[in-house]
Amino acid sequence: EMENIQGKVVAITGASSGIGEAIAHHLSAMGAKVVLGARRVDKLKSIVESIASGGGQAVYQKLDVTNTEEVVAFANFAVQQFGTLDVMVNNAGLMPLSMINSYKIEEWHRMIDVNIKGVLHGIAAALPIFEAKDSGQFVNITSVGDRWVGPTSTVYSATKFAVRAISEGLRQEVSGNIRVTLVAPGATESELAESISDPDLKKLAIEKFRTDLLPASAIARAVGYAISQPTDIDVNEIVVRPTAQK
Ligand code: NDP
Repeated sequence: EMENIQGKVVAITGASSGIGEAIAHHLSAMGAKVVLGARRVDKLKSIVESIASGGGQAVYQKLDVTNTEEVVAFANFAVQQFGTLDVMVNNAGLMPLSMINSYKIEEWHRMIDVNIKGVLHGIAAALPIFEAKDSGQFVNITSVGDRWVGPTSTVYSATKFAVRAISEGLRQEVSGNIRVTLVAPGATESELAESISDPDLKKLAIEKFRTDLLPASAIARAVGYAISQPTDIDVNEIVVRPTAQK
């Protein structure tokens, strides 16, 4: 497995906590050179220091995925630092669950901007680099909500359905050795519930999965599996739930 990860340059959006942070740790331990982006640079700095102190290679850059230019600069930063870009992990996301009739319109906009437009920006930033060398891999992090909708998850699920559609369309359009992988996590340990502004819903969401959360490392291993495959094998989709999540 390590053979195909060793030396690869992997850019990760939303790498300051949760799943993105776990992906950075896991892939760097497997020999990848990781490039971390998020808004909280203090967090990125300490994650990069911890990776470096373990002998891994990691750098970071401040990144807001809603800003097209910043995402392009982020992909180019990876190339400047490590000479190329092999994998773009579009992971940044938020999940402010709410009922439609509480009209949290700003939160709808925010989810659309980060969860959908952020992924599109990541694609627009990395695809020209991949096309120029006829290889590369997108790993788009969706959710089991990319195929399931329930009360309070309407807009969140809509953004993840969109990312699933975008991933499938992209997969069909790209040529040569460019791969597209979708990873759909179930309930996973992270800071994601912090984005729920309704205190009752936040409590409910935290209570519901408290004992059955996946460690973020479980998702990181799924990403590692997809990246480690030979170039002519494209793992299109991985869904990972805690066994107890039905
Ligand atoms: P976290 O809240 O721990 O991590 C979210 C990350 O996204 C943070 O690093 C945050 O960094 C970053 N982020 C948010 N907004 C922006 C932005 N505008 N620009 C750049 N980065 C941003 O949650 P998770 O690790 O759980 O979330 C990662 C992904 O996994 C999301 O796409 C989420 O939807 C998905 N997911 C999570 C599940 C779970 O149960 N945890 C289940 C299914 C899917 P910062 O604030 O520093 O910018």
